[in-house]
Order: sequence, then structure tokens, then C-alpha cells
Amino acid sequence: MIYSFEDISHHYGVTPSVDDISFAIKQGEVVSLLGPSGCGKSTLLRLAAGLEAPHKGQIRAGDKIISSAGYALPADQRHMGLVFQNYALFPHLTLLENVCYGLKLPKKQAQERAYQVMHDVGVDKLANMYPHECSGGQQQRVALARAIAPSPQLLLLDEPFSGLDTRLRERIRDTLLHLLREQNIATLMVTHDAEEAMFMSDRIVVMNQGQIVQIGRPIDVYRSPVNAFVATFFGEANRFDGQVQAGQVQTILGAIDTPQLSDGQAVEVVVRNENLNVYTEPQHKADKPFSLVELHLLGGSTLIHLAGDGDDGTKHHFHAKIPGINFLQPEMPIYLAADQSQIFIYPKT
Ligand code: ADP
Repeated sequence: MIYSFEDISHHYGVTPSVDDISFAIKQGEVVSLLGPSGCGKSTLLRLAAGLEAPHKGQIRAGDKIISSAGYALPADQRHMGLVFQNYALFPHLTLLENVCYGLKLPKKQAQERAYQVMHDVGVDKLANMYPHECSGGQQQRVALARAIAPSPQLLLLDEPFSGLDTRLRERIRDTLLHLLREQNIATLMVTHDAEEAMFMSDRIVVMNQGQIVQIGRPIDVYRSPVNAFVATFFGEANRFDGQVQAGQVQTILGAIDTPQLSDGQAVEVVVRNENLNVYTEPQHKADKPFSLVELHLLGGSTLIHLAGDGDDGTKHHFHAKIPGINFLQPEMPIYLAADQSQIFIYPKT
């Protein structure tokens, strides 16, 4: 079954929330909606769930139209599972009863199915406890089990891990991803966390101000961002201005070829902190030295602040994130290099 969103627009009163959105989710595919707060991600999820109707466009499940202008097939007829960031378990039901709740099966079979999925997400031993007796992480696992137990045709996740601490979040999303793969469940997940989207998704829909900016596999949106907004959403970046001359932009990191841009075009150069490589010897004759301003150990990596002067006298202050602990000293000249394909150049409008 393919879920397709076709030219979807929606507004709250006069505030547009999503504007002419089209994309599709294939069977078994995990698609993330990624973007800053207020860009329309949750509205799209609510539209997918049937909690809102679009003002324009349609949503199809296979051949069947489930939403169109002013119409939404009720949520309980959509065969979808929903998980929000606040677990929303029924407080007066045990965890097992919570998972059984939506199962349209005879009691014994419902309990068997519920136990199975609770086992898969690691909470079967807590079956007879009540939500208030469990931690946030346990409750969120139960919420996932409850959504997955009826074998939904589409699972909808709205920031499902954001209330959990980092370690727990990593463990639960790992468990969930295995389960989604095993059961071939199509999933639409809302997140503002680029790393989470990269980890979970087959494809990422990057949104801004109600519109899609880019859709692609994690590696494609990471390595070939269409603009500075997408480039910087996937990692802190250094940004500076330049100009195209003879098919190139001269930068303090070397000359970058820009065959597709015309001479005289003003550009913005974007290079992520993690894409800068740090050396204590020049790598090319023309390499400019930088001096070390600050150094912060982050655990698995080190963030260094560097200052350098371009040929045209421009003063640069760069951040570079390099793996592991390092022993750079303040008096050492430092040289920077980056894979040319990861120095992004965008025309300024
Ligand atoms: P996101 O999930 O990306 O944070 P939302 O879909 O929640 O974004 O919001 C999209 C836009 O719609 C925002 O401008 C937000 O303020 C507005 N909005 C969301 N919910 C409502 C609502 N219930 N009433 C009015 N405006 C809303």
C-alpha cells in the first residue's frame, strides 16, 4: 500500500500551516518530517491521522481517497497507529490492558498478541503494572507496543522520543527500528532532530515554513543539501560570503569550482564544522595558517575555534569539530582542508 499526499494545503484561521505538500510513503518505508518548530510537521501528521481535514489536495491510501478538501475519513477507520511524545496511556488500565485496548480479537488472542509485542519492545515483564508505576521510558515502550499491536498499515510518530534522556532515546529508537523492519510497517515520523531523522529514516522530508525544501535519502540530503537552510540543519556550520570569478570562488579553504554559476555572482559559502579537517602542516602550497583561539573537549570529539585572514583581508573565525582528544597547542599554526564536495556554495539572492 502506498500513502500519497497530493498538493495538500491547510491553514488554522488565517495562519497557513502546510502549503502545497506532495510526497508518498511506500510499504515498509520509514519517512521522517524534519524541520524547525512551527514548520507544519505536526499538522501534516494530524492530516495523515484524520484529526484534521485539508483545505486543498488529497491523501490516498492505495487507490482510496481518505482525505480531501473538507473531508477526512475518521481516524478509527484508517488502520493507523499513533504515538505522541506524551505517552497518553489509560491510567486506570494495566499495561497489558492498554496494549489490548485497540485489538479487535477475542480476549485470549488479544493477550497473546499484546504479550508478543510487549516482549519485542522489552516491557512484557511489566504487563500487570499500571502506568503510574512505570518510568517514562517504560511507558513510551508500552505506547509503541499499543500502536504496533494491531499491525497498522501506517504508523504515525510525533516526536516519540523527545521526553526521554539521550541514552534511553537511543536504545528505544533502536528497538523500534528493528521492529518496524521486521514487521515491514510503513511509518511517518515527526522530528526536529536531524540525527534522529538520519538514523531512523529511509527518506527525509525537510520542511520549512509549511513547505517541502528537500526530499531524499539521509545520505543525499546530508551530502547534497539544496540550500544553506538544509545544509545547516544537519550540523553547525561556518558561513561566509564570496564571489564567482572565472568559474571559481576563491576562499580561504582554496578555490572551489562553480561551473554552473556565472561570473560576478555573489555567493554564500557553507562548510560544516565536522567537515573541516585539521592539520599542523600545510597540505597545499597556498594553504593559509589559522591560529587556535579556543579548544573544547566534548567527549568523543573536540570543538576548536580558529582565526585566520583571507587573501582579501577578510577575518575568518571558524569552528571545526574533530574526532577524539587532540593535543593542539596555542602557538602551533593550523591548516584547514575540506572535501570540495562538502564545501557548499549557494547563490545569494
Ligand atoms: P511543527 O509541528 O512543525 O512545530 P505545527 O504543525 O504544529 O508545526 O504548526 C504549523 C503552524 O500552524 C504554526 O504556525 C503554528 O503556530 C500553527 N498552529 C498549529 N496548531 C494550531 C492551532 N491549533 N491553532 C492555530 N494555529 C496553529
